[in-house]
Amino acid sequence: MPTVIARDDHTISRANISRNAIRVLTKLKSAGYEAYLVGGGVRDLLLGREPKDFDVATSALPEEVKSVFKNCRLIGRRFRLAHVYFGREIIEVATFRSNRQPSQDGERQLENGMILRDNVYGTLDEDAQRRDFTINALYYDVGDFTVIDFADGMSDLQHGVIRLLGDVESRFREDPVRLLRAVRFAAKLGFIIDPSTESPMRRLAPLLKDVPSARLYEEVLKLFLGGSALESFEKLRHYGLFGQLFPATEEALSHEDHDFPITFVNRGLNNTDTRLQQDKSVTPAFLFAVLLWEPVRLGYEALLAQDVQPVEALQTAANDVLSDQLKHVSIPKRFSYPMRDIWQLQPRFEQRQGKRPYRFLSHPRFRAAYDFLLLRAEAGEVELELSNWWTEFQRANSQQKQSMTEQGRRGRRRHRKRRSSKNKSNNPGDE
Ligand code: ATP
Ligand code: MG
Repeated sequence: MPTVIARDDHTISRANISRNAIRVLTKLKSAGYEAYLVGGGVRDLLLGREPKDFDVATSALPEEVKSVFKNCRLIGRRFRLAHVYFGREIIEVATFRSNRQPSQDGERQLENGMILRDNVYGTLDEDAQRRDFTINALYYDVGDFTVIDFADGMSDLQHGVIRLLGDVESRFREDPVRLLRAVRFAAKLGFIIDPSTESPMRRLAPLLKDVPSARLYEEVLKLFLGGSALESFEKLRHYGLFGQLFPATEEALSHEDHDFPITFVNRGLNNTDTRLQQDKSVTPAFLFAVLLWEPVRLGYEALLAQDVQPVEALQTAANDVLSDQLKHVSIPKRFSYPMRDIWQLQPRFEQRQGKRPYRFLSHPRFRAAYDFLLLRAEAGEVELELSNWWTEFQRANSQQKQSMTEQGRRGRRRHRKRRSSKNKSNNPGDE
């Protein structure tokens, strides 16, 4: 039997729920169906956080939902859902699911324990059992303001625990994306993963191979563009999941660079989190440029050592890494093209004389390439002097710009010399 938590015993206030979600709930109810707010909306409101979106669970079948709302589209084959549109807001409406054996073939389809299709409908309490984590299986009733808890989700929420419902191993096998979801919620909420849920995760990580690359792309965006990219990255590596998503990057990171651990990806992801905190934009193109740069750079340097020309070396390295990566996580072309531009523009920062720097400034991707250069400089991969020059160049007035591009090379030589003589005087014993 579920625990029903009365209005005065929880912190959800209707005022914090999207008006459109409330509209959907009331309309479904007045059409005679059961309808509840569920998932991230309930979880985040109970934690005093602002929900990313609002999900609705209902007894109405997808076609019935469609007939209640004009502004509604049915999506998904694997998991059929109704999307109700209100301008830019989408309320996701899912029919109660059940774990029962399907009465008709094709409603549920499994392969090696993995669910390929899951459209067996059921009751509210059946629906609660087939959700992923206890904290995601709380239902809010807009009619009487109660929270319905079938799985002790409230207690896990209070104690900060991510706990998979049901038999852990088979629930991960059914849908290996739950491995990523466990990490994502732990990172985002600062929760721990319960030991029983956690213990098979590393062993089951290779199951991600069977998940379509397009679905993994969606999950990667949620993991790294949700404000907790760095924390997610560290946890993914801890559970051996990162290497399933980005094998070449994982391989590159396992080597140290001249005895220094590689910090580029950490810095890039930290930067992503900071930008999001400041309400600045982060594009998937930049994110993937960061995530894949280490293997691209290694390939690039190896080709340079074989005397391949820089532009060609970078292009070849980028092609190699990308074609392999797409077998794991797909990247839409509208993002992979600008991602490659960000890489391909890096050697142009070396050219600081004459008209070239001016032309570069007006390149449509200059800004993204420059942000990327800043990261490389912070990570010690290029001289800080180089990124500082470009920072200064952008701020400079036309007269200053002119003198910078005339003296670029001489100025740099002087700078090098000064630095090396300073080093010598600081470390007299070094010689
Ligand atoms: P957020 O939207 O903040 O990322 P969420 O928990 O709402 O988090 P959604 O992907 O929107 O995540 O899914 C809504 C709900 O659907 C979840 O809370 C969970 O109850 C259920 N759900 C989603 N994906 C799965 C899955 N792979 N297996 C089982 N249940 C799932
Ligand atoms: Mg959600």
